[in-house]
Amino acid sequence: MVDFKIVSESKTTRARAGLLNTLHGSVETPVFMPVGTLATVKSLSPEELTDTGAQIIVGNTYHLYLRPGCEVINLFSGLHRFMHWDRPILTDSGGFQVFSLAKLSKISEEGITFQSHIDGSRHMLTPEKAVEIQICLNSDITMCLDECIKYPASFGDTKNGIELTTRWAQRCKKSWEENAQKENALFCVVQGGMFKELREMSADALGEIGFSGYAIGGLSVGEPKDIMLEIADFTLPKLPDTKPKYVMGLGTPADIVELVALGADMFDCVMPTRNARNGQMFTKDGTINISNSHFKCDTDPIDSGCLCYTCRNYSRAYLRHLFMEKELLAYRLNTIHNIHYYVNLMKSIRTAICNDEFEAFRNIYCNT
Ligand SMILES: [Zn+2]
Repeated sequence: MVDFKIVSESKTTRARAGLLNTLHGSVETPVFMPVGTLATVKSLSPEELTDTGAQIIVGNTYHLYLRPGCEVINLFSGLHRFMHWDRPILTDSGGFQVFSLAKLSKISEEGITFQSHIDGSRHMLTPEKAVEIQICLNSDITMCLDECIKYPASFGDTKNGIELTTRWAQRCKKSWEENAQKENALFCVVQGGMFKELREMSADALGEIGFSGYAIGGLSVGEPKDIMLEIADFTLPKLPDTKPKYVMGLGTPADIVELVALGADMFDCVMPTRNARNGQMFTKDGTINISNSHFKCDTDPIDSGCLCYTCRNYSRAYLRHLFMEKELLAYRLNTIHNIHYYVNLMKSIRTAICNDEFEAFRNIYCNT
């Protein structure tokens, strides 16, 4: 059974350190979950991913349902064996991609009909179907199907959206209780756009149904950063404090530190992996682009003091050379460093919370 314990709390902020126990191992929170959309964190083997310290990854229901499909994944009794990753996996519901990638998606009470972005084939994603696919993936954490509301949206449309999300969450829970292995968990997604009143209604309605964890969706969808933080600041305390709180799709390292201060426990974002493939590397002094000609003769590692495999063994000059030549090793070495950077940031955050030094950590991190 997935359970969550809080092991330490900051006295001056809402930051907390916790332990999320799953069938595939325990996860120390706050945690960053690398994105493995197509049953792979792009360019890394699971062993390399483990070496970065990654504890849990995110898989993508929409993509895996379309290709390779449950018919293939069922042969391996789920994603873990299929992709040779024995740590926990969280999968999203597929809803976000249906809205953002699929052609002609159309929403009704029953679910979302859409055409595959790959071959134009027609499908329907209902709350029950989203749960069924995630059961096939054997996700440690299944996400409920929600309506992703575009930004900006009117109050009326956003209100209709959260009401539908609540009804879908009820259907997901029923289907999950009837069909899923009880060792795994079901999380819901709080919506409500940039309207505090609706965020509160959504959090209350989902809290009443009761889930193992609570995500906040619909942030970082084009709104200014101060509004994103204001909505997160308002919404996080409305979620049950005994459960993990997951802010979906965020963010920069500084965003994550701020969101931890507001009470968030779990994060996922394509930024470290996608940026690595574009040559953008995170360092303790900010981001650098490895293609910059300054680095042509630079014999230092990407980030002095970083203990990742890339920084222990390679110079900026070599990594720039690989990147400029579009050598495949460039993507792998850059990704190892960026994931290690995020994972190590989370470890530093957790240590600071446990030593009751988080506020000082945040002040230094976010003001330099
Ligand atoms: Zn490094």
